Amino acid sequence: MPTDGVCAPIAELRDRALDRCSRWFPCLADPARRSSLVLKVALVALHLVYAGILFLFDEDLIENTRRQPWYIALYLLFFVAALIQYFITAGSSPGYVFDAMKASNEANSLFMTSPTASKHPASSKNGSLTVTVDINQSGRNSLGSSSWSKMVMEFYPLGTSIRTMTCSYCNIEQPPRAKHCHDCDKCVLQFDHHCVWLGTCIGQGNHCRFWWYIFEETALCLWTGILYITYLKTSISGAWWKDLIMILLLISLVVLFIFLLLLLLFHSYLVLTNQTTYELVRRRRIPYLRGLPENVFPFSKGVCRNLYRFCCAQSTIYDMERLPTAFEVEEKLRPYTCLDVLTCRCC
Ligand SMILES: [Zn+2]
Ligand SMILES: [Zn+2]
Repeated sequence: MPTDGVCAPIAELRDRALDRCSRWFPCLADPARRSSLVLKVALVALHLVYAGILFLFDEDLIENTRRQPWYIALYLLFFVAALIQYFITAGSSPGYVFDAMKASNEANSLFMTSPTASKHPASSKNGSLTVTVDINQSGRNSLGSSSWSKMVMEFYPLGTSIRTMTCSYCNIEQPPRAKHCHDCDKCVLQFDHHCVWLGTCIGQGNHCRFWWYIFEETALCLWTGILYITYLKTSISGAWWKDLIMILLLISLVVLFIFLLLLLLFHSYLVLTNQTTYELVRRRRIPYLRGLPENVFPFSKGVCRNLYRFCCAQSTIYDMERLPTAFEVEEKLRPYTCLDVLTCRCC
C-alpha cells in the first residue's frame, strides 16, 4: 500500500504510536490480541452507552433512584454481572484436545511409574472417558501420543482408520465431536463454534458459561428496554432530539433482544438434545453423523441427563463420548409406547 504524499507522515506517526504501545504493553504486539482487546473495549463501551444515556436523559429515573435505591442497585448489579460473565467466558478454555491428551498421558505415566498407583490407567469406562487435569499446566508430554491414540480408537467403531481421526494441522488424534478451529489453530473438544464476539472457541469447557452469558445479556437487554419504554411514556413531550435518540436506541435494543432470545432458545435446544451447532449445521458432512436418520441424536442420554452433564461439567474435566453402536441407534429409533411415556424414556 503506497504511503507517499500526505499519508506518509500519518502512517509514520501511527507506526511510531503502535511501536510505543507495544513496548509499554507487550501483549499489544500480537494483532490477534489487539483485535480481541478492541472487541472487549467496544463491548464495554456499548453497554455504558445504553445505560449511560438512560441515566443522563431520564430525570425521573434519578428521582426514582433516591426513592427506591434497591431497584436501580439491582439493575446495576445485573449490568456488572453480565460484563463479568462476558470476561469469564472469553477467558475460559473451550477444552483443547492437546490438553486432554497431555492429561491422559500424564495420568498414564503416573500409573506406570508409581508402585502404589491405581490398578487402572486413564482409559475408557462405559464408553466415556473422564480425565481430570490442571488446565494451567503446559508443555508436551514425553510419553508422546501412543496411549492417547489407543484410547481415542476405543471411541470409534472397529475398523475406523486412524487417518480419518487424525487432525492434519495438529497431527493428533481427535476423539468424536472434536474439530480443528482455524482461528485458534487448535483442536477443540465438543466444538460448537468460534465466537468472534468473545474472541474464543465455544466447546466442552465453556459452553455452559456461554449459555449463561447469553441468558444474562438477554435479560439485561429486556430490562434496559423496559426502562427506555418507561422513559418514553413519561417524557414524550420533552426535547425532541432526546426522544429521537431514545427511540433509535430502543429499536436497536429490540433487534438485539430478538437476536439474543433466538440464540438462547437455539442453544437451549442443543443442550437438551446434546448436540453442538457444528453437528447440527454440518450433519451431512460429518462422517459419523452422515448415515444416521435426522431424528436421532447419537450423544443424547435423555433430557435430564443431558442437562445434568451440561450444568455439572467442570472446566477442569475432559469428558469424551464414544459413538453409539448400531443397536443403540436402533433403540433410539424405536417408536414411543405408553410404557415409555410412563417411564419417561425421553428423560
Ligand atoms: Zn487440529
Ligand atoms: Zn476457535
